[in-house]
Amino acid sequence: MTTRIDGKAFAERVREQVAHDVAALQAQHQLTPGLAVVLVGEDPASEVYVRNKGKQTAAAGMHSVERKLPANTSQDELMTVVAALNDDPTVNGILVQLPLPEHIDADAVINAISQAKDVDGFHLTNIGMLWSGGESMVPCTPLGCLMMLRDQLGDLSGKRALILGRSNIVGKPMAALLLAQSCTVTIAHSRTLDLAERCREADILIAAVGRPEMVKGEWIKPGAVVIDVGINRIETADGKTRLVGDVDFESAQGVADAITPVPGGVGPMTIACLLDNTVTATCRQHQIARESLR
Ligand code: NDP
Repeated sequence: MTTRIDGKAFAERVREQVAHDVAALQAQHQLTPGLAVVLVGEDPASEVYVRNKGKQTAAAGMHSVERKLPANTSQDELMTVVAALNDDPTVNGILVQLPLPEHIDADAVINAISQAKDVDGFHLTNIGMLWSGGESMVPCTPLGCLMMLRDQLGDLSGKRALILGRSNIVGKPMAALLLAQSCTVTIAHSRTLDLAERCREADILIAAVGRPEMVKGEWIKPGAVVIDVGINRIETADGKTRLVGDVDFESAQGVADAITPVPGGVGPMTIACLLDNTVTATCRQHQIARESLR
């Protein structure tokens, strides 16, 4: 029997904990965490994400700020908005929705966000801190994956982990997190030889490639825990579309010990972790131990 890891229910628990901690921050410290999301342009998918983030931020009792800017916003104008949010004491977390229009240097914008307010964990200092074992903001999607793995497996020490994909937002930070948990980590990518063979060696398999159902059941080590980060929209026979992951969910049944479905696995955890990071950032900015809120 393969366990279906319910990311929706898990995210609900994370959000409940966040709401509890927000209420405690208000009661004990008269602080309401604030999250600002900056959106440039009118990408429909980004607009949906930003709306969801705003709704969930408010539902957790936090202060939600949205800055919507036109697609022709200049680099300087965007930098001015970021600088104002850095200086705003009611804003504890800042997220600039990616992708940005092509005329904007996304790296420069991300690195202009105050490191302490970088709740996406994409600032160079946070990346360095993550790899060197310092106190960092951890990117939300890998953080959600780690939470589910810890819940499923407990101690991860000594496990063989294979991460399929080496992007800056998923693959690489995921590798840093699992290394910090004392896993033996392999990062695979489009040039990896004998990919199926490498996957079959892994006790933990994380797929983050963006290729629909690429990982087949026979690539999976019997008893492995599989986390499917991929979100791919495919056309069905009746001309409609549906979302699938990077793992062939059907053929993984009976092989994997546990697997996250798509949708309803990693996806819901990402925004929950963003809210969680905002509470963490607020506590650090005010030298409050988060455990003291429990
Ligand atoms: P990127 O496109 O940035 O990276 C994809 C990685 O997969 C690259 O490292 C690439 O290798 C590797 N890859 C591509 N094709 C193959 C192949 N045939 N064999 C082996 N490796 C391959 O993607 P992201 O990391 O941004 O996203 C990955 C997936 O996760 C996407 O489906 C995305 O939608 C989803 N996602 C989901 C999130 C969520 O909240 N659930 C959040 C973020 C992403 P190389 O480097 O060699 O090119």
